[in-house]
Amino acid sequence: MPCTPTPDPSPQGGGEKKCKPGHDSSMTTSNDSALVLFSGGQDSTVALAWALERFARVETVGFDYGQRHVIELDVRPRLRERMAGLKPEWKARLGDDHRISIDALAAISDSALTSETAIAFADSGLPNTFVPARNLIFFTFAGALAYRRGARHIVAGMCETDYSGYPDCRDDTIKAMQVALSLGLDKRVTIHTPLMWIDKAATFALAREIAGQGFLDVVVEDTHTCYLGDRAHRHAWGYGCGTCPACQLRAQGYARFIAQ
Ligand code: ZN
Repeated sequence: MPCTPTPDPSPQGGGEKKCKPGHDSSMTTSNDSALVLFSGGQDSTVALAWALERFARVETVGFDYGQRHVIELDVRPRLRERMAGLKPEWKARLGDDHRISIDALAAISDSALTSETAIAFADSGLPNTFVPARNLIFFTFAGALAYRRGARHIVAGMCETDYSGYPDCRDDTIKAMQVALSLGLDKRVTIHTPLMWIDKAATFALAREIAGQGFLDVVVEDTHTCYLGDRAHRHAWGYGCGTCPACQLRAQGYARFIAQ
């Protein structure tokens, strides 16, 4: 089903496109530019592929915030290179990569993602890997960068289907950010989260649907999810310690995907 433009009440006009989640092979490519929040993880890599199918020019941004799994950032150039090699049109559309350092985030955060604290669950029910307001900060920087680069679309891999409970991954949070950025920049910004309503098994399936087994192999081999930055242990679902919450989600999702 193609995306249908809906009337846009904002004075800037532009019209938001409502897309159903997942891949739509019948959709035509937009002449617009998009900026993808690209961490090097499984979800943001599938979101990047989704964007490359849709937009004439796609740039990527990664954030260095003192995360202990900083290896995630190191896999990004190779991932971009391998993806550009999968399809000539992807190579033509894939634009600049931006890496932004946000050291202040680690300085104000007491999270297991930015320190050597053991990963555990707090009384709030949230794992202590939660970095408060992380995605709000990422989207604010991405909005500023998108503004400067002339991109009116921001694409990100957030998902609230089988996630770690982070409140800044929720659909309502993202929608609120879209409104805040559009108002604050006085320019229509549309945030797309194609994975919001699908689980990890469906994300693997979506990868294969978008660009076949070749891309699925790239997602398994070259993306990085493990919170501990482990790239020494290779499993059927990729590299990781196998026991941290991120590895468990990925492993369980892959097992369900293979079983389907
Ligand atoms: Zn792990």
